[in-house]
Amino acid sequence: MTKKLKMLAIFPHPDDSAIFAGASLNKWVREGHMVSAVCCTDGEVGTLRSDLTKEEVSRIRKNELLAANKILGIENPEMLHHPDGGVMDVTELRKDLFRCVRKYKPDRVISMDPWAKYEIHPDHQEVGRMGAEAAAFAGFPLLYPEQLNDEIQPHFASEVWFMGMLGHAPNCYVDVSSTIGKKVEAVLQFETTMSIISDLFGLEINQKSITRDDEKLIKSTDEWVRARAEQIGKHAGLKAAEAFYIQKCLPGHFNNLQPSTEAFTGKQVESPLIC
Ligand SMILES: [Zn+2]
Repeated sequence: MTKKLKMLAIFPHPDDSAIFAGASLNKWVREGHMVSAVCCTDGEVGTLRSDLTKEEVSRIRKNELLAANKILGIENPEMLHHPDGGVMDVTELRKDLFRCVRKYKPDRVISMDPWAKYEIHPDHQEVGRMGAEAAAFAGFPLLYPEQLNDEIQPHFASEVWFMGMLGHAPNCYVDVSSTIGKKVEAVLQFETTMSIISDLFGLEINQKSITRDDEKLIKSTDEWVRARAEQIGKHAGLKAAEAFYIQKCLPGHFNNLQPSTEAFTGKQVESPLIC
């Protein structure tokens, strides 16, 4: 029997977990792994509408996230309320994410690839980097010792799974052909995201009247999510896939010593993992 893992998804914005890894997260939940989630911002600037306040957008996006997670089978996320749009206090974020890794004690952290070429979003860069640092450093008890108590204990994650878009170079493809429908359903919960998708597709829908019942939008979102999974799957001979770059952790480092030693000794470089 495969070992049941504790996983912690650390995302910048409410829609990121569904968009980047929704089908994989749902697959892992179905396989019996424990998946927890942390959302670092309320996503309060994630709309093209100017008739809403940040408070209104926060409220909408939080509800959207709860609805999407329900579909994916993920428990309610912990919200960290850092500001959306690139003005995060990185030191505070790092501290918060150390606490989360110490609290949830994950084997696997899933987050954004902060080193992906052409990743311009500062929230994605900072959350990915601090999530990875927390995975590799939260086991050192002398860092933020004031956090420690009976439940919050030093903990190193075993691995970080990074996600990204353009410029992301994966070494793992997850077969999501059985869960891609759930991903579509989850992505469709985000009306605020759909306003951006409608702009991307040139659908000429009035931004103020966008609803998740809009058939044109449902069709485009469905096609967009499936086409992207199909495109990624082609690299691994799969019908539908999500892609990750896995880094194994050592305390304070990624374990690149083993693959580099193997490359040095002439051992063939491993082909991407398909799972
Ligand atoms: Zn995002």
